[in-house]
Amino acid sequence: MDDYIAISTLNDFIFCPYSIYLHNVYMDTDETMYHATPQTRGKLVHEATDNKTSTNRSDILLSLPVYSERFGIMGKIDQYKVKGKKLIERKYQLKKIFRGQIYQLWAQMFCMREMGFPVESIAFYEISTNKMIPVDMPNSEDEKEFEGFIARFRNYDPAENFTPNPNKCEHCIYCNLCDKTETENVYS
Ligand code: SF4
Repeated sequence: MDDYIAISTLNDFIFCPYSIYLHNVYMDTDETMYHATPQTRGKLVHEATDNKTSTNRSDILLSLPVYSERFGIMGKIDQYKVKGKKLIERKYQLKKIFRGQIYQLWAQMFCMREMGFPVESIAFYEISTNKMIPVDMPNSEDEKEFEGFIARFRNYDPAENFTPNPNKCEHCIYCNLCDKTETENVYS
């Protein structure tokens, strides 16, 4: 499969891989959201150059499109502090940090490095509390774990059995279209 996996979907995949599948089935016109071709990747990298001037602080890169050929992933970073070599993902509130969110940060870091940007530290920044939350850089074991996760994502078979989480289903936009659950969507 030549398609790149969107970094933004990694956390959702952990909660429900089937939702990623349904997204691709029902929203395939919006292909950049979940998968994108190498052509799209090239366009995003081009945009990256423009974005370097989009912040009034020249040592901070914002919303930089990134990709990794090694992992076949792409997306956008939130903030990169050039002098400090620090990658930051801002969230309004972070009551709990999920593994998938850490994967997303690692993914951004792997992309940045592959694109030639040195990254020495990574962190979440909680806007509501004005708090920086450092995250460990992935070690070699973590890297293997991440590789395995990406392989699972890439080889996901929507026919495989799994037990849906009703709490997730209740708030899932695909609930009424989904054949894996009887749960009613809270919005219907
Ligand atoms: S309704 Fe539930 S099982 Fe179906 S895609 Fe959404 S979260 Fe997954």
